[in-house]
Amino acid sequence: MLVMKDIVKIYKNGLLELKALDQVSLTVAKGEFVAITGPSGSGKSTLMHIMGCLDRPNAGEYFLDGEDVLGYPEQKLAAVRNRKIGFVFQNFNLLPKLDALTNVEIPLIYRGEERKISRQRAARLLEMVGLGDKMRHRPSELSGGQQQRVAIARALVGDPPLILADEPTGNLDSRSGAEIMELFKQLNSQGRTLVLITHDPNVARQANRIIYLQDGRVIPAPGGVAASEVS
Ligand code: ADP
Ligand code: ADP
Repeated sequence: MLVMKDIVKIYKNGLLELKALDQVSLTVAKGEFVAITGPSGSGKSTLMHIMGCLDRPNAGEYFLDGEDVLGYPEQKLAAVRNRKIGFVFQNFNLLPKLDALTNVEIPLIYRGEERKISRQRAARLLEMVGLGDKMRHRPSELSGGQQQRVAIARALVGDPPLILADEPTGNLDSRSGAEIMELFKQLNSQGRTLVLITHDPNVARQANRIIYLQDGRVIPAPGGVAASEVS
């Protein structure tokens, strides 16, 4: 599904150069549920931006669902992003004036989908995430966990091959966070490919595989424990 090879990202601040990613190579197979974790400053956000086609590396290769995306010009990259990736963010990123149903419809509206079809599909996904009775609620009328479920429905509505979640439980109490992780596990068991970025070891542990970042490099599991033994 996703192959990265020797990805390098350098930030320049005046004369200072900071290598945020140093030859990162990784693969995620179709149907996997992978967590990418590491301490603050290890490069998680930078990697997530490149993986999400929101930013480009200075060097390296990136194939997403068979497409050599780094070779694409900006407009084509944006199209790939919309088609191939469903994003889930820490802050939900819902539009406050729109109800849950319309928030979920947005990716389909952008695609020019017929409104009747987008409504139906959004409603179906809201039911799937357990919000069938809250479709007409605005984000401010929903709890954090419910808002994140709306955001997950929105990520799924265009049926993208990859779901990319950036600290999805970071703004939730532990119970809502656990519910969101359960939902991710269910989605994965239905065959969805999930990549989850988190600094929280307890969240990372719930994925099927963990990739550790430290100082911009992929490292073996800290403490010498193989990632496969952690879960
Ligand atoms: P994480 O998400 O794991 O906290 P980041 O990817 O945000 O890590 O940051 C990795 C390193 O790159 C850090 O040292 C951070 O300060 C630096 N960095 C991130 N974004 C920028 C930027 N836009 N300009 C300069 N340095 C940055
Ligand atoms: P997140 O909460 O997703 O980890 P961060 O707080 O690391 O995000 O970064 C927020 C924004 O600031 C990002 O766009 C990142 O690229 C940028 N950034 C992070 N570290 C630095 C830095 N040292 N200098 C400039 N920009 C930075």
